[in-house]
Amino acid sequence: MTPEILARAEAAYLGLALGDALGATVEFMTPREIAHHHGVHREIVGGGWLRLTPGQITDDTGMALALGAAILGNDGRVEALACARGFDAWMRRKPVDIGNTVRRNLLHFRRTGEPQALASEHDAGNGAAMRVLPVALATLGRSEAEVRAACRAQAHVTHHNAASDAACEFLALAVQDFLLGKSLREVFRARIQPLVQAQPAFAFRARPRRENPSGWVVETMQAVLQALVDVGGFEPCLVDVVNRGGDADTTGAIAGMLAGALYGREALPARWLNALDAQVREACVAQARALAGANAPSSR
Ligand code: MN
Ligand code: MN
Repeated sequence: MTPEILARAEAAYLGLALGDALGATVEFMTPREIAHHHGVHREIVGGGWLRLTPGQITDDTGMALALGAAILGNDGRVEALACARGFDAWMRRKPVDIGNTVRRNLLHFRRTGEPQALASEHDAGNGAAMRVLPVALATLGRSEAEVRAACRAQAHVTHHNAASDAACEFLALAVQDFLLGKSLREVFRARIQPLVQAQPAFAFRARPRRENPSGWVVETMQAVLQALVDVGGFEPCLVDVVNRGGDADTTGAIAGMLAGALYGREALPARWLNALDAQVREACVAQARALAGANAPSSR
């Protein structure tokens, strides 16, 4: 693993946490309400409906860190049972927020010991996509089929749904492309266009600006892809996406992992990194190094 790739892996993980902490302040607000209260919301200040301290993260980063720890504790393998145990332990620590689908299917796991949720066309929330980053890092360099299978193993613990799967697999593969130095133009052709062809509901280009994206993974991805494709730079991309309101911590987290991997460590604003909870910042860096670094050719 080259220092360049490791630095981008760190940027992706920190980007996830920064987008979560930035967006949580305005989660479930409309763009009008955000403009009224904040003008353009561009600082990590906490608050929001969860009454967060400045720099505090929510379930998006919390579940990613739980997943990363589960993978590292399972010799780097992404397996449903290890993931389910990791998420269940996270839920027992009484996180500040938790999605309904995540809670319901983790309670199902507790009752049955079955780590895969039943397939459901209704479980198309963004809960599996928001936490997928550790899988992208742990499977860097593997075949595309292995990456896709690993994405589904973690996702199906709580979200067993085709739209969620498409988003998770796209995100992991696009992050990996960016880590390896591919441009936005290349990823647009190789990943974004095929995603929209396979899942027409994800189409985002000809549509009006997606505001108030709900927790439905389709609306989440439309907002994220519009911001990523139309707004250059790490900070402008994240500011754009969270000011759309709605599920802003999650659009921020997902845009943050993509834009972090694309624009790299130097693009992360120092004032945001300083505002981020220090323990979270250190955990993100440590996991990024451990998950991506474990793929060094000498260790395989
Ligand atoms: Mn959240
Ligand atoms: Mn959210």
